[in-house]
Amino acid sequence: MSKVMHGRCLCGDIEFQAIVPKKEYYACHCNMCQKWSSGLHFSVIAEELNLRAHENLQTFRSSESAERGFCRRCGSSVLYRNDKSNLLVVNLGLFDQRQDFMIVTELFIDQGLCSLDGGHNRLSEKDMEMRDL
Ligand SMILES: [Zn+2]
Ligand SMILES: [Zn+2]
Repeated sequence: MSKVMHGRCLCGDIEFQAIVPKKEYYACHCNMCQKWSSGLHFSVIAEELNLRAHENLQTFRSSESAERGFCRRCGSSVLYRNDKSNLLVVNLGLFDQRQDFMIVTELFIDQGLCSLDGGHNRLSEKDMEMRDL
């Protein structure tokens, strides 16, 4: 059952309600996420994102098929949206109840700077190509 979860950026200029299918998050090790968030990037899949405040949401096209959004005032990274696959993810760290989420999968482990303990899935770039993620 989907849940409505509230979150905001560091300065509060961006505030939202996200509809999330599950209280789960992904940890991405890809080279782009390293640049974007200094290492591992934790994100939550959202079915819908209702922005309550967004004057300072700036988007940046990070690849042909995807854009990333961040707060122009405080610099918090906020979202990743892929036009091709229609995937929308929101950064875990912005959610008020982020401790309630569980990790499901680490992505691009072959590009990672570190690894996480636990019984979750771990996918390399090659694994992801095979699954067409
Ligand atoms: Zn902000
Ligand atoms: Zn990534």
